[in-house]
Amino acid sequence: MTTAPIADRLAALRERLAAASLLSGRAPDAVTLCAVSKTFPPDAIAAAIAAGQSVFGESRVQEALTKIPLFPASLHWHFIGHLQSNKIRKILPLTHLVHTLDSLDLARHFSRIASELNLTARCLLQVNIARDDAKFGLDPDATEPALTEILALPNLSIAGLMTIPALTDSADAARPHFARLRDLRDRLAASSGLPLPELSMGMSGDWEAAVAEGATIVRIGSAIFGDR
Ligand SMILES: *Cc1c(COP(=O)(O)O)cnc(C)c1O
Repeated sequence: MTTAPIADRLAALRERLAAASLLSGRAPDAVTLCAVSKTFPPDAIAAAIAAGQSVFGESRVQEALTKIPLFPASLHWHFIGHLQSNKIRKILPLTHLVHTLDSLDLARHFSRIASELNLTARCLLQVNIARDDAKFGLDPDATEPALTEILALPNLSIAGLMTIPALTDSADAARPHFARLRDLRDRLAASSGLPLPELSMGMSGDWEAAVAEGATIVRIGSAIFGDR
């Protein structure tokens, strides 16, 4: 793989992201670009770093554990894959944000392990907003009671919500799901008194619709690194 396309695609994407952010009534830098580097080799990540990228997303624990230590500690790594409770201890010290807290049970494990490691686990609640059987995440109706219990757990900080709409969705089909996630966040913020500022939604094919609906983090892989 040559690295010039990565720098070029990143520059073009950043420009479009800034424009989309302005269009949504926010500052051009209001949306965090999480470069999803899963399946891509370390030299692709190095090319993105050289082009100024500092936030990366990985979705498989083993792969993340081998790649993250290769790079400067100043980078921010987000974990965006489904997590089994027996992997939390390894991944937690290496990540700045876990997007995929998808059950009350997992939250209890996170809290206990974070307490043992003497750190705070910063997480997003993953919501299965489209009620897609193939997707992980809390049912939208279960989020409020789950959040109430989760907020009572120590060493856990909930920064907002994340969703993955069905993969077959076009951006147009995904947009109402993004709007619903934002509405749910607004309701949860009002009922819990927590700001829940982060909305992680939007991938290579639908991020502009997500930004229009208030995404604060977009997770983009193939539009930066090429096809997997
Ligand atoms: C792979 C992945 C992405 C990035 O998908 P692209 O279509 O390559 O942009 C985003 N979010 C999650 C949860 C993923 O697993």
